[in-house]
Order: sequence, then structure tokens, then C-alpha cells
Amino acid sequence: AIMPTLLSGIANGARQGILFKNGAQLEKIGKVRAIAFDKTGTLTTGQVQVFQVISVSEYTKQDVLKAAASVESYSEHPIGKAIVQAAGDLDLVGAIQVQAIPGQGIVGIAQEQQVIVGNAVFVQKYVTNLPEELREMAQSLEQEGKTVVWVAQGNIAEVMGVIAIADEVRSQAATTITRLKKLGVEQIVMLTGDNQETAHSVAKAVGIDRVYAQLLPEDKLDVIRRLQQQYQTVAMVGDGINDAPALAQASVGIAMGVSGSDVALETADIVLMADRLEKIAVAIHLGRRSQAIVK
Ligand code: ADP
Ligand code: MG
Repeated sequence: AIMPTLLSGIANGARQGILFKNGAQLEKIGKVRAIAFDKTGTLTTGQVQVFQVISVSEYTKQDVLKAAASVESYSEHPIGKAIVQAAGDLDLVGAIQVQAIPGQGIVGIAQEQQVIVGNAVFVQKYVTNLPEELREMAQSLEQEGKTVVWVAQGNIAEVMGVIAIADEVRSQAATTITRLKKLGVEQIVMLTGDNQETAHSVAKAVGIDRVYAQLLPEDKLDVIRRLQQQYQTVAMVGDGINDAPALAQASVGIAMGVSGSDVALETADIVLMADRLEKIAVAIHLGRRSQAIVK
């Protein structure tokens, strides 16, 4: 039977917008010693928008957006949706053989030409070189926290330009991290599929010193495993399909209730109903109190 103290903890949580799927999780979160946060959609709002388009050689900004949107219109990724939205009234062409590679990018054929959109590592598999001046511009955008995706086209592919994507840090992210540190959480890290520069810029803004960037979904899971070896009880906070393996592996998986994907919500043990990050501190508090009373 569930202890009455646990039930009141769960009820208390529910009233404050924290959904505990069961009582065991309430106790576990009270023991958390390390927490891993996903970046996009978790520490940030995930409501991404095209911030800037830069084209090279004979291409215009419109050419870059139009080519990228032709393949991204098949994508469910927030970056893809933002690109399609920005392309708006440009006449989009259809694409075939579109393949989305999670955590990397998307490739397809539009107007008989191959189109590649994704991070630098991904696009470099298709083109011989990334123009140096564009690389420098991309780097300075990344240092401002923008995510830069590269666009290339052609059967012998050549870079058309880059699209910088902006995403806002959640207003309560920094205070949440401060509060968690005050509660004595020993290790707080960021896990992201995004690049180093962008990740560090967001981490700095919210007060996280340890960053793991350019991770694939299975890499996120690996980091959780390693944290568990050192800290035993580890929480993971995420929203995406790419967070699901890590959420399942974590001692306590926490999903964002509004921006979270279905898979993340189903996999998590705790759901933050209104995406209110700061409720994690409340959950830890409730968990600790329930232990104190049980003992
Ligand atoms: P996060 O872990 O921050 O939620 P993802 O793992 O979803 O990020 O993606 C990591 C990176 O892969 C993105 O920052 C982007 O550079 C690239 N990427 C993934 N999907 C796409 C896409 N559909 N179009 C362009 N780039 C993409
Ligand atoms: Mg995410």
C-alpha cells in the first residue's frame, strides 16, 4: 500500500503543476545528486525562428531558404518548421527521397538536385569544403547562442549559405539552476545535439558549467549512465524524441508537459505540466519531505 505521506506529496505536487506518475518517483527525486538538462525545448523555449540567412557565391538569400525549405517541409524538427515558415510565400518545390537523420540534418532531391541541410559535420560529408569566411560568420553567430545550419546543393554538392536559428532561453532557467545548486545538487550538466559554441553560450546564460554537445540520442543515454556510476540517483530533464532513451535510463525522467513530444511524456516519471522548470526544485523538496516523514 502507498503511505499516506506519499499520497499527500503526490497531491501537493499535482496542485503545483507537477505530475508524479507514481509514489516511488517522489521518493527518488528527493535523493537526486545530479541533474542533466537537454537544451533545445527544455532550457530554451524551443520556439525557434530564422534569425538570419547568409548566402555565398551566386546564390541569393531566397535561393538558400527555398532550397532548404523544399526538403525541410518533410521534417518535424523545430528547425525544419522554422525554415519552412520563413520561406513563407517563396514558391516551394517538392522534394523526393527525403531522409531526416536525427541530431544531424536532412537530405533530399529537389528539381533533380541533391539538397543537404544540417550541422557542419553532416554537410561536410557531402561537400569538399566549407568556405572559410562563412565558417567565421557561423562561429560568431554560434557564440551569440544561435544554431547555424548549413545548406548545400548539387549532385557534386556546393555550399549555398547558412541559416542562423534563434531560440530564447526560458525566463526561469537561470533561477532554477541557482535554486538546485542551493538545494545541494552536486552536479548539473547540459546535454545537447547542438554544437559546442551554441551550447556553451546557453549554458553560460543559465549558469551550467558542464556541457556535453553534439550528442546523438544514444550518447545522451551514455552520459546518464556514467553520471549514475558517480552520483547514483540522476535526473534527466528533456522534451524531445531524441531525449527518450536518456529519460528512460535516468533514475528520474522529467518531461516538459507542453513543449514535450508524446514519446518524452510517455517515457518520463514526472511531467512539468506548464513547462515550469522551477518546479523541479519544488519536486525535490516534496520528495525530501516525504522521506523525512516515512523514516
Ligand atoms: P537538441 O539536442 O538540442 O534538442 P537535436 O539533436 O534535435 O538537438 O539536433 C542537433 C543538431 O542537428 C541541430 O542543432 C541541427 O544542427 C542538426 N539538425 C537536426 N535535425 C535537423 C533538420 N531537420 N534540419 C537541419 N538541421 C538539423
Ligand atoms: Mg530538446
